[in-house]
Amino acid sequence: MTKKRSSGGRNKGDKGSSGTVQCSICGALVPRDKAKRQTRYTSLIDSRLLKELQQQGSTIQRTKVTKYFCISCAVHRGVVKVRGKEERKFTPRRRRRTQA
Ligand SMILES: [Zn+2]
Repeated sequence: MTKKRSSGGRNKGDKGSSGTVQCSICGALVPRDKAKRQTRYTSLIDSRLLKELQQQGSTIQRTKVTKYFCISCAVHRGVVKVRGKEERKFTPRRRRRTQA
C-alpha cells in the first residue's frame, strides 16, 4: 500500500505503541508522538505593563503552558502547514530559541 509519509506522520519508529494525549481544542485522543506540542510562557500581567516593568528591571513570574493539538487542529491554527509531495519527505529542522 502506498504511504503518504514514511513515518505515517508519527515519531514512533518500531516502538509498538505510545500513550495518548488529549487535544487542547477539540478533545480528541491523539497518539503522543503524533500530536503537535506547543509550549508558551504566559503572564497574568497585561503585555504593555509587563514590558514597562521589565525595562525597569523587575522580574515577573511566568507560567509555562503546554498544549497538545491533533493534526487537524494544528493545521487549522497554523502550527503546521500542509506541504507538497516532495517537501513532505524531510522533517524541517527545529527552530532554536536564541538565548537573550
Ligand atoms: Zn483537535
